[in-house]
Amino acid sequence: MDQATLIQKLTEAVGADYIHTDPVALRAYDCDALTIYKGQPSAVVLPGSTEEVQRVVRLCREAGVPLIPRGAGTCLSGGATPAPGGVLAVFVRMNRIIEIDYENRLARVQPGVVNLHLSRETLPRGFHYAPDPSSQMACTIGGNAAENSGGAHCLKYGMTTNHIQGMTVVLGSGDAVHLGADGDETPGLDLRGFFVGSEGTFAAITELTVRLTPNPEGVRTMLACFKEVGDACRTVSEVIAAGAVPAAMELMDRYTIEAVEKVMQAGYPRDAGAVLLIELDGLPSSIRPLEKIIRDICMKNGCATFRLAQSEAERESLWMGRKKAFGAFGAIAPAYYCLDGTVPRSKLAEVIDEFDRIAARYGLRITNVFHAGDGSLHPNVLFDDRVPGETERAVECGAEVLRACIRAGGVLSGEHGIGIEKKREMRDQFDAATLGIMERAREAVDPDGMFNPGKILPGGEVEFPICDASQGVARMAAAFTK
Ligand SMILES: Cc1cc2nc3c(=O)[nH]c(=O)nc-3n(C[C@H](O)[C@H](O)[C@H](O)COP(=O)(O)OP(=O)(O)OC[C@H]3O[C@@H](n4cnc5c(N)ncnc54)[C@H](O)[C@@H]3O)c2cc1C
Repeated sequence: MDQATLIQKLTEAVGADYIHTDPVALRAYDCDALTIYKGQPSAVVLPGSTEEVQRVVRLCREAGVPLIPRGAGTCLSGGATPAPGGVLAVFVRMNRIIEIDYENRLARVQPGVVNLHLSRETLPRGFHYAPDPSSQMACTIGGNAAENSGGAHCLKYGMTTNHIQGMTVVLGSGDAVHLGADGDETPGLDLRGFFVGSEGTFAAITELTVRLTPNPEGVRTMLACFKEVGDACRTVSEVIAAGAVPAAMELMDRYTIEAVEKVMQAGYPRDAGAVLLIELDGLPSSIRPLEKIIRDICMKNGCATFRLAQSEAERESLWMGRKKAFGAFGAIAPAYYCLDGTVPRSKLAEVIDEFDRIAARYGLRITNVFHAGDGSLHPNVLFDDRVPGETERAVECGAEVLRACIRAGGVLSGEHGIGIEKKREMRDQFDAATLGIMERAREAVDPDGMFNPGKILPGGEVEFPICDASQGVARMAAAFTK
């Protein structure tokens, strides 16, 4: 099937209002939130049902063109960036909460439901959807499942995989299958678990059954401020070692505090070297003793001020600073590159010092804002993408940061996925035999390589060029003059 016929048939499959082929419109889809790498799709389709997705997959298969699933495009590892010439299937139209079963604490949703919308719907009835990525006001539950996303409260409640009971997926053959079961136990191999976190490389998710979590009876939110980031890191490690696991424990360093306070005044002290945002939840009688343990450990580690949020408004303000921290980096640098490595908690202070040394070698700056309780780091390399060569330097600096995490006994990704970004470093993390198993697993599920080529596994034929701001402007001009 030639390109023109494919476009015509895709148009018939989803409707003329739900397909883009104009180069200017396609520009909006040539990357996700990792803007360093770009790939221009041949078409963007917005299917409205599982059946439409099946039709789109079968057409792409006939034409020999790959399909790339996309939710809100907030992925930070390039997972939703299209292989050049592929067809991008964007799931934002499939955004219906199909059914809520409060009795069994389950919700059936389409993949394009925005994460926060589900909690907003269920909160008045005493439930919420627990995985809470900082992007939860935009990202979709389908994207969360594909990335096995985490969030601040995943320290206590677990990652996305712990909250997905079942999924309907459309395979490369065009067949739709249901993974998981209605009850808590899944007989046979756990294919649901196998597909969660496969970053859109196995299949398109078209429906999910997710677990709802009861709202906690009580919540205490506190801000502990330290002079040195190392003291905050030691506090994190000691709190967990003492068995006082909070619902969330987030760390922000001095540059992050500076950025946040510049744009929104969340109430973080500007002279602090680091702050810990700690939240306890549960029965008030169980929270009080934990609060004392945590306060004592903070003080022992040189905490300068320890503040309890006195109202819901104060709590919201403290959280808003954390959730919008990435956006705030725009106030202190022209561009940033957000990394995502995980290390044992006891190594946090050591690796953050190492990040500073790495950044200094590259003449760049690194800020840290992360889910400290589970050792899930987000070092952000600040750079100027208008300076020739600086984007490449930021990428190399990032690769060294990731290798430092691996050396410290950690892993390449805590929650943002491998995507395009960390493909190369997969060889630093895994030996050839393990990578071979991953390759064969992918071939078994998607033998014709229909889904999201060029992601996760190192090597392969699909290349994504590094793109800096000057190239972005040139590409935009070219698109408009076509
Ligand atoms: C400011 C900011 C803060 C963030 N904070 C966090 C955080 O705290 N924790 C965290 O884990 N992540 C975080 N992220 C990363 C990102 O939001 C998550 O990875 C999120 O799950 C992506 O969802 P999405 O809908 O945007 O998916 P997309 O970015 O569109 O896609 C992500 C991946 O999922 C695949 N995919 C999407 N939809 C489907 C589908 N229906 N079927 C099959 N595959 C699909 C895509 O192919 C791609 O590989 C953050 C991102 C930003 C920009």
